[in-house]
Amino acid sequence: MRVLIDTARCEAHGDCVMAAPDVFDLDEEDNVAVLLMADPPEALREQVRQAADDCPVAAIRLEG
Ligand code: SF4
Repeated sequence: MRVLIDTARCEAHGDCVMAAPDVFDLDEEDNVAVLLMADPPEALREQVRQAADDCPVAAIRLEG
């Protein structure tokens, strides 16, 4: 699985950080989500799917 964040779309709501704190963080200076890992291990995939579902502006894309 690869994770991509559309930073132009992200409004820093932080839902992704709540759902998958090992994978997403917030850059408070730039007010945008950042990826801590772009290719999360199997054990984190459910959290990452939840994060993508929770994002209110659909800024998280999953591939693979
Ligand atoms: S949930 Fe979506 S809008 Fe909020 S910080 Fe994460 S990527 Fe950005």
